[in-house]
Amino acid sequence: MFDTASIISHQKRTPTASFSGLLIRSFSLSGHSGLGKSTLVNTLFKSQVSRRSAGWSRDDKIPKTVEIKSVSHVIEEGGVKMKLTVVDTPGFGDLINNDNCWEPICKYINEQYEKFLREEVNITRKKRIPDTRVHCCLYFISPTGHSYYCQMCGFTLACSPCFVMQVKKELEMNGIEFYPQKEFDEDMEDKSDNDKIREAMPFAVVGSDKEYQVNGKRVLGRKTAWGVVEVENMTHCEFAQLRDFIIRSHLQDLKEVTHNIHYETYRAKRLHENGGLHPVDTQESNL
Ligand code: GDP
Ligand code: MG
Repeated sequence: MFDTASIISHQKRTPTASFSGLLIRSFSLSGHSGLGKSTLVNTLFKSQVSRRSAGWSRDDKIPKTVEIKSVSHVIEEGGVKMKLTVVDTPGFGDLINNDNCWEPICKYINEQYEKFLREEVNITRKKRIPDTRVHCCLYFISPTGHSYYCQMCGFTLACSPCFVMQVKKELEMNGIEFYPQKEFDEDMEDKSDNDKIREAMPFAVVGSDKEYQVNGKRVLGRKTAWGVVEVENMTHCEFAQLRDFIIRSHLQDLKEVTHNIHYETYRAKRLHENGGLHPVDTQESNL
């Protein structure tokens, strides 16, 4: 019944005084077509978008994704407006052989680092470097079509908690790390907050861009034979938890980890391998 999205890795951007926008980019590695990626993006914006922001109506639809494509909207969070950009990807994992299906995504992420680095080493460096770096990757896993057999409830995994447990086990067995990594916990408080997140992942999420009337209120939901699954109702699915995690509680941390760890690693490697990345101006004038 539930679709499962999990945040496995993440990237972020420079915290600057002039920072005015959040960039979250959503990728789906195992997310082949039809898993609900575009719908989730739509749900995220619809649940959060600034009602006053121009150019957006609650009826806007995100079209079917056929190429790597970013969608940006201004959202309002705690009275602060931010620009949220989501990069929706087409069906990676749709091919018969998916061995290297993540490569276009890694390439995209690295290209954004390279762009930033090129600007940074420029002699006439811009005051505010345009930043398209990725802060967060969401991976979508289909809850159906797996051959897991649930030993606890005896079902072939139509059961959300068992499926989530299975995913957790596989991540651990295969040494796949996901954000927030333990080694980045800064203190006990951080550790206890992050432990809760780590415990809750992967999130079992339902996305929908349709509204239904429930108890006199219009809510985003998905109609099923059992009734309306309310997207933002925490007792129905974990969409609200996922949203709060990425655009509220861990937003700043995602940005810092992207800049201080992932980008820094990329930068150090590039400068090292090149014997120093030549400033673009210098190269152009053949100095
Ligand atoms: P994408 O190809 O991954 O971008 O998938 P889409 O967002 O285009 O969704 C494909 C289909 O799955 C559409 O018919 C959606 O209505 C449906 N869908 C999207 N999200 C969910 C969900 O959370 N649960 C269920 N059951 N169906 C969904
Ligand atoms: Mg799509």
